[in-house]
Amino acid sequence: MNAVSPRPPLTLRMRAEDNVAIVANDGGLPEGTVLPEGVPGAGLVLRDKVPQGHKVALRDIAVGEAVLRYGVPIGYALQPIPAGRWVHERLLQMPSARALEGLPLATVRPPAAEPLTGYTFEGYRNPDGSVGTRNILAITTTVQCVAGVVAQAVARIKAELLPRFPNVDDVIGLEHSYGCGVAIDAPDAVIPIRTLRNISLNPNFGGEVMVVSLGCEKLQPARLLPPGSFPIADERDPGAGPETICLQDDAHVGFMSMLDDIVQSARPHLERLNARRRETVPASELIVGVQCGGSDAFSGVTANPAVGFCADLLVRAGATVLFSENTEVRDAVEQLTSRAATPEVAEAIVRELGWYDRYLDRGRVDRAANTTPGNKAGGLSNIAEKAMGSIIKSGSSAISHVLAPGEKLRRDQRGLVYAATPASDFICGTLQLAAGMNLHIFTTGRGTPYGLAECPVVKVATRTDLARRWHDLMDVNAGRIADGEASIEETGWAMFQLLLDVASGRRKTWAEHWRLHNALVLFNPAPIT
Ligand code: CA
Repeated sequence: MNAVSPRPPLTLRMRAEDNVAIVANDGGLPEGTVLPEGVPGAGLVLRDKVPQGHKVALRDIAVGEAVLRYGVPIGYALQPIPAGRWVHERLLQMPSARALEGLPLATVRPPAAEPLTGYTFEGYRNPDGSVGTRNILAITTTVQCVAGVVAQAVARIKAELLPRFPNVDDVIGLEHSYGCGVAIDAPDAVIPIRTLRNISLNPNFGGEVMVVSLGCEKLQPARLLPPGSFPIADERDPGAGPETICLQDDAHVGFMSMLDDIVQSARPHLERLNARRRETVPASELIVGVQCGGSDAFSGVTANPAVGFCADLLVRAGATVLFSENTEVRDAVEQLTSRAATPEVAEAIVRELGWYDRYLDRGRVDRAANTTPGNKAGGLSNIAEKAMGSIIKSGSSAISHVLAPGEKLRRDQRGLVYAATPASDFICGTLQLAAGMNLHIFTTGRGTPYGLAECPVVKVATRTDLARRWHDLMDVNAGRIADGEASIEETGWAMFQLLLDVASGRRKTWAEHWRLHNALVLFNPAPIT
């Protein structure tokens, strides 16, 4: 787009000490634009065309001088950068990652926020006390070999049985690529195995676990769900464990007998799920995973700060907020360890990020491998800049707990939780499901149709231009913040109310409406055989 933007030129600066601001206007601003009164850099003449979301130097920056955004160095100038120039990644040397030694541990006490009381939603209370926002029959699989059979069985269950059980929202197969051909005794195999186990126990599935196994696979059903890991099944039939259909069972003669067996086994689970009713529960039963994907320079200005405000509201209401994405918080590790509620929590953050540093090191990369061409086209010069905008999603509460990849939140763990995961959208979402997420918020600047079958995903656009073009994919337009039409606080409150509506089933997200379901993608740092 070469057309001059119809709106007056607008730049946004995060902190007074920043020496760059980003251009807010759709289509960017042409060379020669004079920045008007009232915006950062007023009176400056742009020396280059500056694309939307990209940075402009607010004053002359000398070689080696820090380029400051969010009040922190996001890079060092490789050549003199005069005021008014477009500050792109090729002009910057990325700062090195902060060492994990000698970090401040639990030194910042966030001001005690007043509890929010009286907020509720309509949810499905489970026997273990957890609450689902949806009522879904999920069929667990031990191995990828059974995926095609389970897909056909699910199609038959939905066609033949589901219409008779109107209180059940959906039937899904928990398909994945793990289960065999893997070094299952490698120490790191614990991560994919517990991820699958804990996803089966997600609050949105009502404790109705049924397992489809092949028979000869490495991940045997008893290893996936050992006795005691599944208290509801034990209650019905002590010691029996969850119901398992084994395709190699001698009783199966022909493909149709396998399908019939799975379809018939689903019936009692559907009957029990169908008998459940939503009941009014406190907002504290929400377990909200926050994530971003397809980020741009607006992510850290509009959508992520609004999500952060909403995260603070959720924590004040007693709910749990999971934030994640190791490579996107690594450059802000000092902020995390200082915000930890206790030194033990801070040490757990260091342990998880240190483990991840070594994992990346084994592959001879570092956190800088995170950024995508789209991030850079969207104005994010490097991972240091992306990280500062990403971590804002976590709000300002103290960090109360840390989960290793695939671990499940205990009932007594509430508040702001760091669930250590890769930043990869589908892997992070999969691990947050294992942690017990019953609602998901996802921010995007470049745009992604991301969605999950297991849990509602509320998608937040960082820019009005994206929200306009993707009007039937984006649930919230945080771009109104950059347009000056809504504040971060107003947007955060609206998001909080929307979450209660979606959790209650009063509202569907666009991803639910269109049935946009990404695959479960397990994080398997262990070898394949
Ligand atoms: Ca992500």
